[in-house]
Amino acid sequence: MANVLVVAEHLDGKLRKVTLPTITFAQQTAALTGGEVHVLVLGNGTDAVAAEVAKYGVSKVHFANSPVFENYLAETYAPAIVKAAQAIGATVVAAPSSTTGKDVLPRVAAKLDAGMVSDAIAVFDDGGIKFRRPLWAGNVLTTVEVVTPVKVITVRTTDFEAPAEGDAAAVEAFDAGLAAPDNAEFVSFDQVKSERPELTDAAVVVAGGRGLKSGENFQMIMNLADTLGGAVGASRAAVDSGYAPNDWQIGQTGKVVAPDLYFAVAISGAIQHLAGMKGSKTIVAINKDADAPIFQVADFGLVGDAFEIVPALTEKLKGI
Ligand code: FAD
Repeated sequence: MANVLVVAEHLDGKLRKVTLPTITFAQQTAALTGGEVHVLVLGNGTDAVAAEVAKYGVSKVHFANSPVFENYLAETYAPAIVKAAQAIGATVVAAPSSTTGKDVLPRVAAKLDAGMVSDAIAVFDDGGIKFRRPLWAGNVLTTVEVVTPVKVITVRTTDFEAPAEGDAAAVEAFDAGLAAPDNAEFVSFDQVKSERPELTDAAVVVAGGRGLKSGENFQMIMNLADTLGGAVGASRAAVDSGYAPNDWQIGQTGKVVAPDLYFAVAISGAIQHLAGMKGSKTIVAINKDADAPIFQVADFGLVGDAFEIVPALTEKLKGI
């Protein structure tokens, strides 16, 4: 059967939201291939994640609990994904286009002798199954056909909605039969712990640019984000200037976000920045230059000094 296998992502015992749009992509693909959507959860203590993901209109969830999968290593995850794909007869293997997905799926593709599409934003049948993906910071949309029997796809999760919840699917233990690799060893995982939501999962993102002029001035961005329960982002110029940490970067070479509400504060709106946020549902731009390109994509624009507007807006919102 031409099934679709989704590799689930989870952190601290919780399903990561990026898995859900990947399931929607898989459902759309399975509707074209006539197959089922299966989900693979690798880890150690994944029962709760498996039960959660089973609610999202999939046919079956396969979960592996093993010390070998306690911490992510491409050397263990790739062979396990390959084994699961072969066991369920998957002709499409999909994962979010995240750091993990981009790391592990090329290995999976090589092992399965499969063609790969990165950053798929659509799947459709046009005399054969085809995928659409952006190039050149989203300026070009290409249509890609993969001619190998198995296709491996990373999914740009901002382009798919989360699926509706439904009846829980069957959840089954999966034994990858793998021992710890002798050529790679997990050393440590430095996780940035924050009270704020994860940038790619947040409903509200407040991002600051080089116009803020210093790292200290990012405090007003954080205050606005915290007032709205949002995440904080930054342009590459702000990151390169040392005003914001690297993991806040949004854009072509940073994270891709599509929150309900995106604030671009003192960000000019370069094409490389837009590539990471123009899918946001509502965009608010605050910039002192009325001709800044960010206003071309903004739903609401405030022309003025961010140092006056942002604190005033934060105070007003606190009063609501
Ligand atoms: P600037 O372009 O310097 O804009 C600052 C803005 O702040 C201006 O519009 C100014 O009017 C405004 N401003 C100044 N003072 C105030 C004030 N007091 N109140 C209000 N507004 C004010 N960029 C990214 O963001 N993400 C990426 O992933 C990325 N990847 C890249 C990849 C490549 C290969 C290349 C070549 C570039 C990439 N860039 C990326 C860089 C991009 O081209 C821009 O240089 C960058 O986005 C500019 O950041 P900025 O808007 O913060 O700074």
